[in-house]
Amino acid sequence: MRYDPRGLVPAVVQHALTGEVLMLGFMNAEAVAKTLETGLVHFFSRSRNELWQKGETSGNRLALRGMVADCDGDALLVLAVPQGPTCHTGEASCFHRPVYGQGWVPVPAFLGLLRMIRARQEQAPEGSYTARLLASPDEALKKLVEEAGEVVLAARGQGPERLVQELADLLYHLAVVLVAEGVPVEAVNRELEARGLGGRP
Ligand code: AMP
Ligand code: ZN
Ligand code: ZN
Ligand code: ZN
Repeated sequence: MRYDPRGLVPAVVQHALTGEVLMLGFMNAEAVAKTLETGLVHFFSRSRNELWQKGETSGNRLALRGMVADCDGDALLVLAVPQGPTCHTGEASCFHRPVYGQGWVPVPAFLGLLRMIRARQEQAPEGSYTARLLASPDEALKKLVEEAGEVVLAARGQGPERLVQELADLLYHLAVVLVAEGVPVEAVNRELEARGLGGRP
């Protein structure tokens, strides 16, 4: 790492499961070492001039999942699973004060799914189930209802493993319907935001 003259590097903390950017802190060599050693994210507090384990008083710790340095080693990206709100204000993320536009992106896993489905729509590879559904939107809508029914059955007695599979089926078919109907996911997020549900994962 290339620490600045005060021995610090900025560290961006990102939610390891959703991709949400949670906070920015500064680490010195000791904070990096402590983070790797304990699996809990540590910083160096510039105001208090001391090593600080995030969550040591609030309990809102950050469980380490990954750490990556940038190209020239003067910044860190820390992937972590938060054990509570990361911001001391009680917000999930420190980045909650709008300056311009929207400050979040829709859940990445769902976005990846949409990207894959859009690619199938463009290339329409032979034998692709997705391409076939996209070519007949009525069929896609029928499947959506069918999978919703399967979720209900799974939730009522088929066990947690089956429920996960059926929820995945439902999400996939929901994504197919979004693409087939030409609805941008941003429109759905705007609608959720207008209802006060944000869009934050
Ligand atoms: P905590 O680490 O959550 O126990 O909080 C202890 C102290 O660290 C707080 O009183 C704040 O001064 C500071 N702090 C906590 N979370 C953040 C954050 N996300 N960004 C900046 N400072 C924070
Ligand atoms: Zn850099
Ligand atoms: Zn904050
Ligand atoms: Zn199913």
